[in-house]
Amino acid sequence: MNRLASRTSRIDSSGIRRVFDLARSLKDPINLSIGQPDFDVPQEVKTAAHEAIDSGHNIYTPTQGLAALRENLIAGEKQFTGREWKENEMLVTSGVSGGLFLTLLALVEEGDEVIIPDPYFVMYKHLVRLFGGTPVYLDTYDTDFGIDPDRLASLITPKTKALLLNFPNNPTGRVIPRTALEDIAAVCRKHGLLVISDEIYRQFAYDGMTSMAEVYEDTLLLAGHSKSYGMTGWRLGYACGPADVISAMTMVQQYSFVCAPSVTQYAALACPQVDLSKNISDYRAKRDLMTGILGSHFRLAPPDGAFYLWAEAPEGESGTSFVEKAIANNLLVIPGAVFSERDTHFRICYTVPDDTLRKGAELLCKLAAS
Ligand code: PMP
Repeated sequence: MNRLASRTSRIDSSGIRRVFDLARSLKDPINLSIGQPDFDVPQEVKTAAHEAIDSGHNIYTPTQGLAALRENLIAGEKQFTGREWKENEMLVTSGVSGGLFLTLLALVEEGDEVIIPDPYFVMYKHLVRLFGGTPVYLDTYDTDFGIDPDRLASLITPKTKALLLNFPNNPTGRVIPRTALEDIAAVCRKHGLLVISDEIYRQFAYDGMTSMAEVYEDTLLLAGHSKSYGMTGWRLGYACGPADVISAMTMVQQYSFVCAPSVTQYAALACPQVDLSKNISDYRAKRDLMTGILGSHFRLAPPDGAFYLWAEAPEGESGTSFVEKAIANNLLVIPGAVFSERDTHFRICYTVPDDTLRKGAELLCKLAAS
C-alpha cells in the first residue's frame, strides 16, 4: 500500500528544482534567475517588527488578521482601486502563496477546471492539480501575451470554476490594459465566472495599471507585501473577494495556517508610511537598461512590469537548449518550459546590480549571435 496520498503524485517540482540544483552547482554565476527583489525591508518596517517582538506581540492573531491591519489594507485598496471591500470580504494570508492555496482549496474539487493563461506562475497548475482539478491553458503567445476574449469564451465549460489571472505577469512582465480587462470581464460576467486576480507585482507596473477588482465585481483579489517591501521571507499577503469565498478560506485557515505571522502583521502596519518610489524607479531603469541591450537580439514580450523579461530563444533553439548554453557559460536564466506548456522562451529576472545585468545581457547577445 502506498502511504502517500495519491494527490501528491499529481504534482512534481522537477523543472524548477533542476534549475535551483544547477544554480548551486555553478561557482559565482551571473544569476538572472532569482525572482525576488534585491532591496532590503525598509527601516521603518524593520523597526516596527523589532518593537512588535519586544512588546510581546508574539502570539496568535485573529484568523482573519489584525483588525488594525485589515482596516489599513481596506483603506489601501480603496485608494488603489476605488473599491471599498467590506470587513467580511477580506482575509490576511501567509503570502499570496497562502492566499492561492486557500482560494483553490476552497473552490476546486475533483473534475473542476481552472483556466490559466499560458505562460503562468509555476504554482498555479500544481495547486489546481493537488486539489483534483484540471488546469485549462489559455494560450497567449500569439496575442503578445494578452488575453483574447473569444479564446477565453471558447474554453469555458460547465466545469469551469475560475479564471486565474496574473498581471504584472510572472514570467512575461505583461500588464493587461483596462479596455482588455473590460472585455475579459464581459465574458466572465456572461458565464458567471469568478476571476482570481494575482496582483502581487502591482507596485511594479511602470506605466500604471487597473486592478481587475476595479472592472469586475466577481473578482477574488490576491495581493501581498513580499515583492513591494522586499519581505519575501516574512510571509504576508491578503485576499479580498466575495464574502462566501472569503468565509470558506477563513475556515480553512483556522485549521491550517491559523493566522499569518503575527510579528509580520504588526510590522506591516508601518508599510503605508514607506515611500516605494525609488525602488520602483530603480527597477524601471534596470528594465530599460536590459531592453536597450537585448532588444536588438531577442524578441521580448512587452516589458510592462514586474521585474522579468520574457525572451524568445534564437531561431532553431528551444528555450531549454538555449538556457543550457547560457549555463555552460556560467549565466543562469530560467527555461520557459518551467512556466509554460511550450519550450520556446526563457525568463530573465533583472533585480541584480547594473554591472551584473550588463554582463548578463551582453553574454546573452553573444550566445544568440553564435
Ligand atoms: N504570485 C506570483 C505571480 C509570484 O511570482 C509569487 C512569488 N514568486 C507569488 C504569487 C507568491 O508570493 P508570496 O511570497 O506572497 O507567497
